[in-house]
Amino acid sequence: MRIVMLGAPGAGKGTQAKRIAEIYGIPQISTGDIFRAHLKQGTELGRQVKRYLDSGELAPDALTCEIVADRLGENDCANGYILDGFPRSLPQAQALDRLLEGRGESLDVALDIQVADEQIVERLSARRFCPVCGAVFNLKFSPPPPDGHRCGGVGPVVQLEQRSDDNEETVRNRLRVYHEITEPIVTYYREKGILREVPAAGLDPNEVFERIEEVLGEVGASRGA
Ligand code: AMP
Repeated sequence: MRIVMLGAPGAGKGTQAKRIAEIYGIPQISTGDIFRAHLKQGTELGRQVKRYLDSGELAPDALTCEIVADRLGENDCANGYILDGFPRSLPQAQALDRLLEGRGESLDVALDIQVADEQIVERLSARRFCPVCGAVFNLKFSPPPPDGHRCGGVGPVVQLEQRSDDNEETVRNRLRVYHEITEPIVTYYREKGILREVPAAGLDPNEVFERIEEVLGEVGASRGA
């Protein structure tokens, strides 16, 4: 299964992509996670993308596509993958098509997780993550255990952190960038006949996942494949 996750920042792409990855046995490839890992490690790539992540603007297409091409070349991508946060512009979507064509592959489905803008700002301001294991929580919608988060449920309580780009000003810019630059690819995939809409407003992550499973069942995904 080759899946693209679409949706505004904070729509729940990452949370859902992780669950799909676990259940269907394919890797989740998040360009945002890759960039953040480079930032944390202080690599040259991290230095190059820092200002984009800080402001909520998109990193350059060529750079982003190169990273995805490298990642798709790894062995675990042989049987499929979920692209989470990529493509994010028409040039990226077209570059992905060329890359897949060269590999003799095509996408099976583009899932568009739909949440209204007003909910996004509310959701992102309540998002927290564990700096040790990367688990993501939402203080309102999927809070950590009342006695604190322990990685894998064991060990010491870890203090959760907030992503630096989840502040209101940057979130509003990320939403603007989403509508101007990313949203046109919804039409691109609709015209290709692989777009499936997943209305997620007011649903909790489990309910959204149930809808995703229905869609994946319809497009022929099998668990653990
Ligand atoms: P995310 O974790 O998907 O919200 O991405 C965080 C930030 O990483 C974005 O606001 C962009 O600055 C950058 N980024 C992630 N994916 C892409 C992409 N496909 N193209 C350009 N920039 C990206």
